[in-house]
Amino acid sequence: MGKVLVIGAGGVGTVVVHKMAGLPEVFSDIMLASRTKSKCDAIAAQIGGNRIKTAQVDADNVSELVELIRSFKPDLVVNVALPYQDLTIMDACLETGVAYLDTANYEPKDEAKFEYKWQWAYQDKFKEAGLTAILGCGFDPGVTNIYTAYAAKHHFDEIHYLDIVDCNAGDHGKPFATNFNPEINIREVTQKGKYWENGKWVYTEPHEIHKTLNYPEIGPKESYLIYHEELESIVKNFPTIKRARFWMTFGQEYLTHLRVIQNIGMARIDPIVYNGVEIVPIQFLKAVLPNPGDLGENYKGWTSIGCRIKGVKDGKEKTYYIYNNCSHEVAYQETGTQAVSYTTGVPCMIGAMMYLKGLWKKPGVFNVEEFDPDPFMAELNKHGLPWNELHNVDLEL
Ligand code: NDP
Repeated sequence: MGKVLVIGAGGVGTVVVHKMAGLPEVFSDIMLASRTKSKCDAIAAQIGGNRIKTAQVDADNVSELVELIRSFKPDLVVNVALPYQDLTIMDACLETGVAYLDTANYEPKDEAKFEYKWQWAYQDKFKEAGLTAILGCGFDPGVTNIYTAYAAKHHFDEIHYLDIVDCNAGDHGKPFATNFNPEINIREVTQKGKYWENGKWVYTEPHEIHKTLNYPEIGPKESYLIYHEELESIVKNFPTIKRARFWMTFGQEYLTHLRVIQNIGMARIDPIVYNGVEIVPIQFLKAVLPNPGDLGENYKGWTSIGCRIKGVKDGKEKTYYIYNNCSHEVAYQETGTQAVSYTTGVPCMIGAMMYLKGLWKKPGVFNVEEFDPDPFMAELNKHGLPWNELHNVDLEL
């Protein structure tokens, strides 16, 4: 049905092309391109059947991207490289007249901001070109936005309180490792906390607010309020929300390592000169930490991510909890990656399917909650991320 160019051969890219390869009726031609072609070739060989073409591309370079897109002629470009490449890939899509999808919002390399303003500024350009750009189609952002849209469509007249809860109760057996790109992950969890309340952002010190929450089939876990990018688009698209927060579980060992990394300056994102060479400490740290893509083999346990929602339906207050639990072991058996890559890659593939089937196709730049959630939710159940819902339960928050 459609040709797709996937950019980025990391943990998420691996899952995306694995899943696409199994659906030839939707993804007739697949190309995986990345900075290091050998990584694309290894993934293609693992999938086999000559399903995946590969290419080398520097996605920071618009003219290289344009050349690749012109030669392969995809219907859609799926960006699972790093957030730094979002704008160059969007520029290349505009220049070649191709639709765009990603899983993380743009960030300048020298500023950890996690804001949509740069990508939302492309709204008119995509609209005028008649092209679709789908932003943030992983799990969080992604499925959490779609869960919220689904709740708003089917279970609430007004959503008032939203708490997104993200638990990784898995154990990879390493003293310290990050579950996705270390540079992006450490930047995200060490920034100040921020949540939405009564029409404005409230700021906290990093990890200042925390609470023990119970996760289904996992049990109690200490959960920390952090800022996460989907809050920005969700409060814009669901203006009845009075308070929106994001909680993530961290173990004590992880937090101790993070504190040391920060205290000794290894989380710095500005360049320093070492032996006459300019290096960015956090990028050097990434080079010595375990590769998130290699954690899968010994990873045990579950992730549990969901939305806890309070609001009004038919004049009555109600609560609602929708979530997915994903097993690291099952994810590894199927794709050779752990559950964090899996829970990002599967929704990314489904978003691409929504576009190619014409279900999520309109000119402009959109966050995923601006599309119909129903066909997407149906596909989650078919492709490894089934969801569960609980009505009128104690949300603990
Ligand atoms: P990885 O670091 O494992 O992979 C990133 C890939 O992008 C690597 O193959 C890397 O190449 C490639 N890349 C980096 N820079 C360039 C460039 N200039 N040109 C071409 N390719 C490049 O990251 P993940 O797979 O873990 O994450 C991928 C994306 O998914 C990230 O943007 C991340 O923020 C996002 N994400 C979203 C989540 C969600 O739920 N929404 C959750 C988790 C991740 P090389 O191999 O040469 O380094």
